Amino acid sequence: MLYIDSISKGIVIDHIRAGGGFSIFKYLELDKADFTVALIMNAPSKKFGKKDLIKIENRIDLDLAMLGFIDPNITVNIIEDEKIVEKINLSLPRKVEGIIKCKNPRCVTSLERNIVHKFVLMDEEKGAYKCEYCDQIYSWEG
Ligand SMILES: [Zn+2]
Repeated sequence: MLYIDSISKGIVIDHIRAGGGFSIFKYLELDKADFTVALIMNAPSKKFGKKDLIKIENRIDLDLAMLGFIDPNITVNIIEDEKIVEKINLSLPRKVEGIIKCKNPRCVTSLERNIVHKFVLMDEEKGAYKCEYCDQIYSWEG
């Protein structure tokens, strides 16, 4: 069992869905970090049975909307002097821009290159989004 207080200043990304930690680790480019980072997989969790977590011994900029989009159950803990000074519970962002692409071949974003793909949250439970331009649905469930 690892304890959060093993880092003095930094960020702990907690409650990552078990198996999801590696892709977040890669997304944050922590494999290229020159500071201490740890990816812990399949840690015991009261809430989910198992979870992944990432410890970062540094304050880096996190795109919380993007992280919430990847995994809305994540908790981000900001650590200072070995204590949690801030706890941020993520959720699905209302809007996502430039992250997912509209699959509708007739959508203006498919026809024109320079338009940012924009989606609006439609159904929080299903994680369903709809394209702001053509109402095409995007969902994690496919
Ligand atoms: Zn569209």
